[in-house]
Amino acid sequence: MKDHMSTNTNGGHSRIDGATVDIDGVLFDIDDTLVDLKTAMDKTVRHASAEHAPGLSEEQWIEYTHLYSKDPLGHYDRFLSGELSFVEQRLQRIRHAHKSVHGSLLDDESLFVWNRAYEKTLPIHFVAFDDVATLLDALEAAGIAYGAVSNNVEAYQRIKLDKAGLQRVEALVGTDTVDCPKPDPQIFHEGARQLGTEPARTMYVGDNLLVDAEGSTAAGLVGVWLSRPGVVGTPGPDDREFDGPTIGSLDEIPAMLGLVNSGYKAS
Ligand SMILES: [Mg+2]
Repeated sequence: MKDHMSTNTNGGHSRIDGATVDIDGVLFDIDDTLVDLKTAMDKTVRHASAEHAPGLSEEQWIEYTHLYSKDPLGHYDRFLSGELSFVEQRLQRIRHAHKSVHGSLLDDESLFVWNRAYEKTLPIHFVAFDDVATLLDALEAAGIAYGAVSNNVEAYQRIKLDKAGLQRVEALVGTDTVDCPKPDPQIFHEGARQLGTEPARTMYVGDNLLVDAEGSTAAGLVGVWLSRPGVVGTPGPDDREFDGPTIGSLDEIPAMLGLVNSGYKAS
């Protein structure tokens, strides 16, 4: 049965924390929100490092890839602050993971070879999470605009979306689009501007508690924290909880937007 109070061809009425909020657009983080970057990086790191780290056990490989993606020394943050280039932060991360688990230091020649293998292999493994297509279908059916706001450069993320089969995500803001990264409010506001929606009526969904959920909320959007079970995701403080809506899967969003009575069925 269609309920005219909970469906809308120009947006969704969202009940969030007991209050009804009209949502006209949804913005997403990309890495580990739309695209399973963690799995792609794990497979790629194993491939690129295989010749440099002979004899590692399965347990050691898990530790190796975990250290690379978790980035405990914060090299990715140093890229975001402009201290390291994108490739430099990647090489610092692999150097640290390699030294910690294999015990040897990768020299410049090895790093060059490693990086070439990494860059060639990573795009092969870019895939969207299983719950993405169904959600985008539901948003389109409801006339809710969507797009992406990411802490990487726009051209690189456009290629990533294309490789992952997400060409239909047209609105895209990268760190170079507005010359600042999340959680700066400007980057979220540019996303809303591209969608043509008011920030207060725009939902932002991301896996990083600090820059995505709390950052978008502080910028005046409706921040939602995506905490996928078993996914480490982008480095962030993991000993806290979000003081706002938290979901374990994108499948939960249509219900939050009041779209479940408009023909959408969670898979
Ligand atoms: Mg992310």
